[in-house]
Amino acid sequence: MSTQKSNITCPQCGKKNTWQESNSFRPFCSERCKLIDLGQWANEDYKLPGPTVDPHQTPDDKED
Ligand SMILES: [Zn+2]
Repeated sequence: MSTQKSNITCPQCGKKNTWQESNSFRPFCSERCKLIDLGQWANEDYKLPGPTVDPHQTPDDKED
């Protein structure tokens, strides 16, 4: 019981996976799943928690 392998599940495809330092795509199972996830970021499927920008408030629009 000295193996430090953690069983993880790929967040993208749900495939059972093993956390390996050699796997640069972790926690994803493959580059493909990682790229898909990045694509979702680009499509704003994920919402970043942060300050919401009020469209009516333009601080940079005070030139004059
Ligand atoms: Zn996957």
